[in-house]
Amino acid sequence: MQNNIDNHKHQKTKMILKILGPILLLIGLASVIIGIVDMGLNITGSNEPKLFFLMMLGFPLIAIGLFITIIGNMQKINSYVVREQVPTTNETLNNLASSIGNVANTVRENVEQKKCPNCGKLNDINAKYCNNCGKPLVKICPNCNKENGTDATYCNNCGTRL
Ligand SMILES: [Zn+2]
Ligand SMILES: [Zn+2]
Repeated sequence: MQNNIDNHKHQKTKMILKILGPILLLIGLASVIIGIVDMGLNITGSNEPKLFFLMMLGFPLIAIGLFITIIGNMQKINSYVVREQVPTTNETLNNLASSIGNVANTVRENVEQKKCPNCGKLNDINAKYCNNCGKPLVKICPNCNKENGTDATYCNNCGTRL
């Protein structure tokens, strides 16, 4: 609830900035033009230009207006870029995730099952004997009694030749 209010406030501020920027820019430009015109009209006359201060006021207003306008447009560009890229990124991530998932499943199937060297039947990873032909699926190290794969030449625990 609090977040929604904050978000709303933030959007309102952005809207104000977007409107305020061009308005300040226009006021600044108008002030400078009025100042220059006033100066031009009075330069030949005896009167001192009274609206010269408008020109001095106008330049900072143009600068501020331009700055706010750029910020407003940058936010628009940013939000546009984010809105455009997020679905694409999500899709890519989803595809990547499912690809990784598929690979992981394939790896898990191969890793978590043990192929019997005698008959080729896939057995549970923890199986010690094939449930199809009854042949041993592990080599027990004569030195440390550790279980090794049937294709192991050396014990992976103590290095004894099997
Ligand atoms: Zn077997
Ligand atoms: Zn061993």
